[in-house]
Amino acid sequence: MFCVGQNYAEHAKEMGSAVAETPVIFLKPSNAVIESGMPILLPAMSTNVHHEVELTVLIGKGGRNIPKSEALKHVAGYGVGLDMTMRDVQLAAKKAGTPWSIAKGFYTSAPLSPFIEASHIPDPHRLEILLKVNGIERQRTNTSNMNFKVDELIVFLSSVFSLEEGDIIYTGTPEGVAPVVQGDVLEAEIPGMIKIQHYVQ
Ligand code: MG
Repeated sequence: MFCVGQNYAEHAKEMGSAVAETPVIFLKPSNAVIESGMPILLPAMSTNVHHEVELTVLIGKGGRNIPKSEALKHVAGYGVGLDMTMRDVQLAAKKAGTPWSIAKGFYTSAPLSPFIEASHIPDPHRLEILLKVNGIERQRTNTSNMNFKVDELIVFLSSVFSLEEGDIIYTGTPEGVAPVVQGDVLEAEIPGMIKIQHYVQ
């Protein structure tokens, strides 16, 4: 799974970062994925695990050096996910200049919805994404606010790595990230389309 950092200006601002000129990319292992209803397990090594709600993209057709005009044709579906983040561990890694893999890739760090077929989403940059914690809205944005759009991310990722069928892109979170605690119930959704619910354990 490819994940994009700092892809919404207001979130970059709350993290004290500038919006990047090229996409900030990190990876999560596939075994971090959990489906709706499964608990998010708080790792013992962190006291500050944050929620990040994000539009997710399922690649249907792989490729390398995919041109922008073709990029969205490589998408099989869109969904919603949570990029759970050990913020304290990530900040320590940023300071030390070491990778974010632990902070971002721990077990259960990737709650992920099923995907809505791409043919049902005429424009992935006109979607609302929303997160409620214990019934209270904590994050909401429209994907029109993304800095690097889905097609630009596909161009970039396929130029550096290569994309394969089944790859997933977490496209970055808007502002409003905050810590979760044991017992919280997180509901992430594209309103009217798809929703996941997770209990923090
Ligand atoms: Mg994120």
